[in-house]
Amino acid sequence: MSNEQQHSKRTGTDRRGFLTGGAALAAGALFSPANNQAQGSTQPAQGRPVPNQGEFPVKAISSANGREATRIAYELLTKGKDTLDACVAGVTVVENDPNDTSVGYGGLPNEEGVVELDSAVMHGPSHSCGGVASIRNIKNPAQVARLVMKTTDHVLLVGEGAKRFAIANGFKEENLLTERARKAWLRWKHSLSRSDDWVGEMGAEDPDITAAFNGRPTGTIHCAGINSSGDISCCTTTSGLAWKIPGRVGDSPIIGAGLFCDNDIGSCGSTGRGEANLKNLCSFAAVELMRNGMSPEEAGLEVLKRVADNTPDRLRDSNGRPNFGLNFYLLSKDGRHAGVTMWGPGRFAITDKDGTRHERSAALYERRAAPRR
Ligand code: ASP
Repeated sequence: MSNEQQHSKRTGTDRRGFLTGGAALAAGALFSPANNQAQGSTQPAQGRPVPNQGEFPVKAISSANGREATRIAYELLTKGKDTLDACVAGVTVVENDPNDTSVGYGGLPNEEGVVELDSAVMHGPSHSCGGVASIRNIKNPAQVARLVMKTTDHVLLVGEGAKRFAIANGFKEENLLTERARKAWLRWKHSLSRSDDWVGEMGAEDPDITAAFNGRPTGTIHCAGINSSGDISCCTTTSGLAWKIPGRVGDSPIIGAGLFCDNDIGSCGSTGRGEANLKNLCSFAAVELMRNGMSPEEAGLEVLKRVADNTPDRLRDSNGRPNFGLNFYLLSKDGRHAGVTMWGPGRFAITDKDGTRHERSAALYERRAAPRR
């Protein structure tokens, strides 16, 4: 029996008891799924009804680079596939895409030119999770993270240990550095200083390399899904901050930061400046705010405000606002969803009964268009 199954078996009733007892007391009048089921349908979560069993609005949301991921995840969700398997299948396509320089194969490397990946998964129905950090030469870290969750008693494996675990489980070791990513990395090295031995502006004439280089590129994919039973899972996978110090781990593989879900409340995941998220444990905080009655959008904007308040001076612009990007993607059990961003305009991807599309994220701050001369 897997850890996940053991966990579900062990905690099914305890967990419910906790939610209707301790958590409810802690948060005041709380939305209680156990009560919902007992009473048939629509016990409000601070005023919001949840759907009947089997009638939850099926949807998958992700960061803007995950349109195709949400389409795939949604299709699997509607076919009755496990919610986490659906999300992992979605992000696998992006991990395999050499043109997405923020995730998996083709991701931008660390300062030594080596691609290091971070990923974590969380399965709502069993409240289990797994992650890998700083893993090298393995293209699909989200699948490895899912195996950590399913086949070990651990939550997070890092570096060499994570790679050996993946290889032992049949994953192929391969070079993840594409030519495009290698050239973008070299261009970065050339741009560092005028007083070193790298001369010229390597790759400046190549628009493709310039696009991949783009200063200090960031990016990640988070994908979350809810099925018609109201089960929720999510995963986050990334090559992390480009040109990072080897061994640097961002927010993506850290449960509570890069992602979190509570099957009775909802989920949240992030992209953007991982260090800011790590200092505020934003995904966990956002789910707790939803537990206390906030909508996904309100919860996401509230955690962004906390990040803004806690930002050190060296990371503020001349108006005192954070000079970095941070985004959250949120789902709530009652069927609502939102994307929020520190700096708008921003967008996220979604597939639901109305199709696959981008929607606009709510922004804490809006970037003004450059004034016309
Ligand atoms: N959150 C990722 C990290 O800090 C990077 C990103 O999403 O841009 O590693």
